[in-house]
Amino acid sequence: NFKLKMENVLPFEAVSIDLIPSVHQRVVDKFHTHTTRPVEYRLKQLRSLYWGLKDAEPALLEACKLDLGKSAYEAYLTEVGWVLNDIIFMSKNLARFAKDESAPDIDLTNKFMRPKIRKDPLGAVLIIGAYNFPLQLSLGPLVGAIAAGCTAVLKPSESAPNAARIMQHVVAKSLDPEAYQVLQGAVPETTALLDCKWDKIFYTGGLTVGRIIAKKAAETLTPVALELGGRNPAIITKNADPRLAARRLLWAKLLNVGQVCVSQNYILIDKDILPEFIRQLELALIEFQPKGAEGNSDYGKIINERQWKRLKDMLDSTNGKILLGGKKDQSALFFEPTVVQVSSPDDSLLKDESFGPLMPILPVDDLDEAIRISNKVHPTPLGIYPFGSTAETNQILSQTRSGGASVNDAFFHASIPTLAFGGVGDSGQGSYRGRASFECFTHHRSVTTTPSWIEGMLDVRYPPFTDAKFKK
Ligand code: NAD
Repeated sequence: NFKLKMENVLPFEAVSIDLIPSVHQRVVDKFHTHTTRPVEYRLKQLRSLYWGLKDAEPALLEACKLDLGKSAYEAYLTEVGWVLNDIIFMSKNLARFAKDESAPDIDLTNKFMRPKIRKDPLGAVLIIGAYNFPLQLSLGPLVGAIAAGCTAVLKPSESAPNAARIMQHVVAKSLDPEAYQVLQGAVPETTALLDCKWDKIFYTGGLTVGRIIAKKAAETLTPVALELGGRNPAIITKNADPRLAARRLLWAKLLNVGQVCVSQNYILIDKDILPEFIRQLELALIEFQPKGAEGNSDYGKIINERQWKRLKDMLDSTNGKILLGGKKDQSALFFEPTVVQVSSPDDSLLKDESFGPLMPILPVDDLDEAIRISNKVHPTPLGIYPFGSTAETNQILSQTRSGGASVNDAFFHASIPTLAFGGVGDSGQGSYRGRASFECFTHHRSVTTTPSWIEGMLDVRYPPFTDAKFKK
């Protein structure tokens, strides 16, 4: 019945930069002992992590409250329960994922060489987490790395220090310390980590830092998975249901105060349906937050002053008109869900990622215009959210690109645990979740085994290449 309490966990402390090369060497050396390869070892680590997290549940929920003001309900749904489910899924399926596969479409002659695909771990990997879902975005990839048989260093986001320190505690208590380490730090520590040679770097965060990571990784030809920023459009056609669109898109801005990489960054709506959509947004706001957002314990806060000020500046710089919301309070890091009608696709609210509770809406003449604008503002968003008839939503899917899409909804695709999640183009590369988390840290090693009895048949490949051989 032991349950971890916050006060029993060490405070957040950045690792000394001098220690980083030795920790890196430790996990590299551990990988080369081959002890992380057997599936039994991996399952044991996953099981142990599961129970470590279960024991730490109250502390983890409290950490999410302290860092982001998340309600326990939301924190369980999107963080703790989310990761526990990922571990269960992986544990149930790991033996199957890790099995050798025979090569596809093999002809009879090559069959004798028993061509197959081994699932080998990539090696020692670095995982760099982001602040908005501090548990899910750090532990999710770690589950994949453990499942694949890799060793790993996890560097959580320093902007969510409470979640970071509880994760460090749980990992230290639950996992093999030679193989898995959580190191705390900000830019200097992450830079020192990037100076080490890894077998893969898994990064979640913004585009600018994503470029820094990719450049650094390129120096040592290290493969990367980059889970980057949003600027995702929602497109509402004149045949959409305005009530459903309003409720679902508002939900995406209330959850984690819109600090969600896949939440819609802007809405393009057919001008005919705009008035009813705004009316439905008002109704939904009253239903979801009868006493308003302020003081509502289900509604979180902006992570820190820097991000709060960035959002305020964004709102100050728009030429749009605030239709709903707009209240903010710096001392409480409070930011009301704020609906702004803008008049141009060049408005900064469309071009820049708000990563907060701003909901800019641009009315358009028709679907073709919406598709044209969305392809221009950001051609490769992380998600796209078409609302309309089946023909219209199909048209949107076939004339745009994005990491994923939720039809008639906001970012629901990202919550399906077995669907691979990732970006395309500027929104990232590589994917994870479900089986993809295992594959992300796995090398498909093609292997043949040539039997000795076949030597006579192989005669054709050896020189001299006589005419007789040529005719064969
Ligand atoms: P952040 O501040 O938490 O930074 C992310 C990580 O990068 C942290 O661990 C941080 O220490 C590290 N970092 C920051 N600057 C660095 C530098 N110069 N060199 C090396 N490492 C550095 O988060 P953020 O980047 O502000 O996160 C917000 C962004 O992340 C948004 O753009 C959001 O859309 C994106 N995001 C993407 C996903 C996804 O799955 N695609 C998920 C969450 C967030």
